[in-house]
Amino acid sequence: MPAAGPTHLNPRERNPVIPTLITIRVRLLSPGGVTGPERRHLDTGEEEPANHLPLRRDPDHVVTLPGTTVAGSLKAHCALWPGLPSDLFGGAPEDEKKVASPVQVLGVRLRGALPAVTSATRVAIDRHRGAARVHALFTVEQLPAGTEFDVHLRWDDAGAALQRFLDAVRGWRPWIGRGVTTGAGGCAVTGVGWRSYDLSRTDGLLEWLTVEGPATYPQPTEVLPAPSPRTAAIDVVLDIVDGLHIGRGASEPLEGPETKVSLVVQRNNGEPYVPGSSLKGVLRSRVEYICRVLGHPACDDAGCGTCQACLLFGWSPRSGGDPRMGARAAVAIPDAVIDGAEFDLRTHVALDRVTGGARSGLLYAQQVVVTGHFRLRVEPLRCLTDVELALLRACVADLHDGLVGIGTATTRGLGTVRVCDDAWTVPDLTALATLVTGGSDG
Ligand SMILES: [Zn+2]
Repeated sequence: MPAAGPTHLNPRERNPVIPTLITIRVRLLSPGGVTGPERRHLDTGEEEPANHLPLRRDPDHVVTLPGTTVAGSLKAHCALWPGLPSDLFGGAPEDEKKVASPVQVLGVRLRGALPAVTSATRVAIDRHRGAARVHALFTVEQLPAGTEFDVHLRWDDAGAALQRFLDAVRGWRPWIGRGVTTGAGGCAVTGVGWRSYDLSRTDGLLEWLTVEGPATYPQPTEVLPAPSPRTAAIDVVLDIVDGLHIGRGASEPLEGPETKVSLVVQRNNGEPYVPGSSLKGVLRSRVEYICRVLGHPACDDAGCGTCQACLLFGWSPRSGGDPRMGARAAVAIPDAVIDGAEFDLRTHVALDRVTGGARSGLLYAQQVVVTGHFRLRVEPLRCLTDVELALLRACVADLHDGLVGIGTATTRGLGTVRVCDDAWTVPDLTALATLVTGGSDG
């Protein structure tokens, strides 16, 4: 981290600047972190397995959060905050003339001793089936909830905009790092500290000269109240009607080689869960379907960037497109643990593709969650439009009516759920058509 102190001062400056140093203390509310792009070499000298995503580390192997990631989030937040200069963090990437950012991110420091890094098991999801891809299990290193880090900023000659900026910082609720759209990395600002140094005055100059590095940066003096829970766009409890199967992506032999069983995804403690990515896949394909039924365009490859599904659930450029484009989802959908789960095995006989008859002796079994309930929560990462909210509510109604299912084998009677929430009522869907076709600006 570059020191902000007097080494940056130009002694021949005719009008001394008033530098301000700001420290923002941020706490992780859900496990998260920024994973590194490269694989590490383990102490054993071997490379980490390809299906393991380690946290980003500096050359000394200390877990870090890159300043650019934090700056990007703060820039996006400030762009929506009223009354702030538009170029606080420099110009837009597409601008031809590059403007230095008035607010500089000096660095991000994890507070205290490094907390125990945990590993979460994730499944890569085939979004057309809403089920795990074959051999798609991978692990992600995460910092635990409660981890705190300090973001250090410097702003020269901030002037009257400083107080408005500090207000914006107090209202910042960043989502940082990997897995944000499944609920990882939700953060809150828990403290803010700042100090301006008037270099035209002896006392200001003396104070500035004692700033040597992060340890002498202003400490948060102002402790912010615990943040209120995020308001969800959708928050309903769903009951499993017939049975639910979201497999781990590979079948395992059961009682000898004659039977293979596909087990459901479970947490380390044995609780079955519906991966957020699975729920997201189901909602996305339903939104695409509803839009098409209403005569509104919707792509089916998450690549157009303009349809409602792309705006809500994110997109990435098609091959040959500008790789800088693309956007992440506007909503986060966390994993949903299934409460009161009871399991059953459903066996079926493997069919011979040629004769259509049963292949002798080979049985397939699926582990199925036959009873239980889980919570579908859709949390907005930005303000959602009326159209987007209406589409999400229509999806819940379609799940409740059994028009869409969750997990595999939905065509063989699995995956039906029903809303079991007294507070929930069937939304008025007649207005949806007018809303969706009437314009996408909500
Ligand atoms: Zn699209």
